[in-house]
Amino acid sequence: MNNQSSDIGFVLSTTPYREFDCMVHFLGEKSGLIRLVVPGYYKPTSKQGSLGLEFSKVNYRFNFKENSLIRVRTGELLESHHQLRQNFKWLLQMSLICEIIIRTYDPSHHDIFYARMDKIMGSDATQTQIILAITEIIRLQGVSPNVDACVRCGNTGINTFSIEYGGFLCAKHSPSTHKDSKMVLVALKGLFDNQNVEAYLNSFDTTPLLERLVRYLEYHSDMTLNSWQLMLNV
Ligand SMILES: [Zn+2]
Repeated sequence: MNNQSSDIGFVLSTTPYREFDCMVHFLGEKSGLIRLVVPGYYKPTSKQGSLGLEFSKVNYRFNFKENSLIRVRTGELLESHHQLRQNFKWLLQMSLICEIIIRTYDPSHHDIFYARMDKIMGSDATQTQIILAITEIIRLQGVSPNVDACVRCGNTGINTFSIEYGGFLCAKHSPSTHKDSKMVLVALKGLFDNQNVEAYLNSFDTTPLLERLVRYLEYHSDMTLNSWQLMLNV
């Protein structure tokens, strides 16, 4: 039986498929994370040109068939982020969070994933929203770090954040090879203590914090993020 559906959502990634088609990872408000084909996307005369744009918000109409590849019939591009697309850093940031969502998506927490993506796409503070999303994903994965005290001795005078030990370390137990800034430590404490640190995150360069969180997620969820390797090489 064919079911005609339509859904609003985000294009998280696109890959060429067959000669002219495009395979899309779509995070739909109703559908969850699904794969769809945009037929003829790569044809020079394509009328679907706007429907396979990575990191855009779209409305897709498609026929849903159990156990078969879903093909987009028609649709509209709702938000292309035309201006941000000129910004290479934004493209890298979006590749990173979209890859993380694709790799960690859990249908039982669909509302959280969708709301996070909606916030990231609707905010000017992209990196702050990505940091909040990654923190929540770490929590959903059940691998939150211990941010109460040194994880090795319980000393509350903390000095650095250890990915391997899964939390803070005191001066005595910190390795000599790495030291986090006070801002990174305060932010990590606030993030995993569930405090509202959004304004704080907007007040300094959070790139070192993003790096700690991504590497933490990679280490504790046992994955390598291709988009993160790309960011490091730029
Ligand atoms: Zn210690």
